[in-house]
Amino acid sequence: MPSHQAVAGDLAVDPQFVSEPAETKKVHITDTPITKSNWYKHVDWLNCFFILGIPALGCVAAFWTPLQWKTALWAVIYYFWTGLGITAGYHRLWAHKSYSARLPLQIFLAAVGGGAVEGSIRWWSRGHRAHHRYTDTNKDPYSVRKGLLYSHLGWMVMKQNPKRIGRSDITDLNEDPVVIWQHKHYLEVVAFMGLIFPTLVAGLLWGDFQGGFIYAGILRIFFVQQATFCVNSLAHWLGDQPFDDRNSPRDHVITALVTLGEGYHNFHHEFPSDYRNAIEWHQYDPTKWCIWVWSKLGLAYGLKQFRANEIEKGRVQQLQKKLDQKRSQLDWGVPLEQLPVIEWDDFVEQSNNGRGLVCIAGIVHDVTEFINEHPGGRALIKSGLGKDATAMFNGGVYFHSNAAHNLLSTMRVGLIRGGCEVEIWKRAQKENKDAQYSKDEFGNPIIRAGNQVTKIQQPIVSASAA
Ligand SMILES: [Zn+2]
Ligand SMILES: [Zn+2]
Repeated sequence: MPSHQAVAGDLAVDPQFVSEPAETKKVHITDTPITKSNWYKHVDWLNCFFILGIPALGCVAAFWTPLQWKTALWAVIYYFWTGLGITAGYHRLWAHKSYSARLPLQIFLAAVGGGAVEGSIRWWSRGHRAHHRYTDTNKDPYSVRKGLLYSHLGWMVMKQNPKRIGRSDITDLNEDPVVIWQHKHYLEVVAFMGLIFPTLVAGLLWGDFQGGFIYAGILRIFFVQQATFCVNSLAHWLGDQPFDDRNSPRDHVITALVTLGEGYHNFHHEFPSDYRNAIEWHQYDPTKWCIWVWSKLGLAYGLKQFRANEIEKGRVQQLQKKLDQKRSQLDWGVPLEQLPVIEWDDFVEQSNNGRGLVCIAGIVHDVTEFINEHPGGRALIKSGLGKDATAMFNGGVYFHSNAAHNLLSTMRVGLIRGGCEVEIWKRAQKENKDAQYSKDEFGNPIIRAGNQVTKIQQPIVSASAA
């Protein structure tokens, strides 16, 4: 993974004739391959201790710590508070500015968000903005392209080259006194909100200091961390992509359940400044519900929402893309412009020689294989061989279905020179300025129901009229 990607201009210079710039001699550890002798240098041991070591100690200590129901309830409540600190605070308020909060709510979210032990608002938001700006690239600090485990934990337990992470603008956060205060006093905030506060609540209110420390402190931190890490991993790996499928973000209810509603991540990456992640009433987004309630209480205001019209446009475009992909996998027959031109006399002669050819709307179809399968019987289809059966097919004898026209198009083998319907159709294609809209994104024509070239728009009343 070179930190310096080759660009077109670089190729003009042969690297073997260029002396190494001085700065590349100081290679960052992340730019060297992991080997048996240096693997421990790649590991961020401090983060390992916080993310994996402390929870492991907590699990062991839990064996000697009876779980009281009040403490269990408190641990769950505090889990939601600290989780909301990340989702409603760090993420939707500070990283995305999707709404504004009054000072008391800002202080509450900065405090409980600190209790989730995921870094300061300033550090977290900077990484998250880079993640949105450079999603799935080398500059994405937790790119899922480097593996699910990497996006979940690896990016924190392994050292990262800070120069590699994409730049993001956090000037607004540098002017936010709550953000700056929390960043400066981060260790005190973490120690107090992560461990001391949950311990004091359980200890002073019902005398369970040890349970408060282990369950509402250490193990609750572990669960809230793992849950919110899922936004970086699971939300880029599991589910549907109703708005855009060029990048990895996905929507899934399981991710939403785990992450307090951050699971509608495909929507979120498309409309990041919307205070909602879920837009349907039945989808689980407690973070959105809380922000809405705070706005009713006067604690939050300026809730941003994309217009439904814009959201639906994105959804329809993605549907169209999926439709085009499905259409391109079907057999629509050889395109007219690729068919050979056949003289009428050759067509009649080949038919007389036993080839099952029928001409409909100037297009020659080989129905040899189909004669025995014809739902209308062999006799009728045989009566059309070697002839112009346009009128018979379009109501003269039987008014064929849309499916029949579709099936017929897969049997086309040529065009009759000067065939009238084909000439009219070709001229219409040339003259029609909107013709480009009848092609899908692969450039294939879109054949709508009832629009096949073999279909004569005004049904012919009797065979004799043709
Ligand atoms: Zn994401
Ligand atoms: Zn985001």
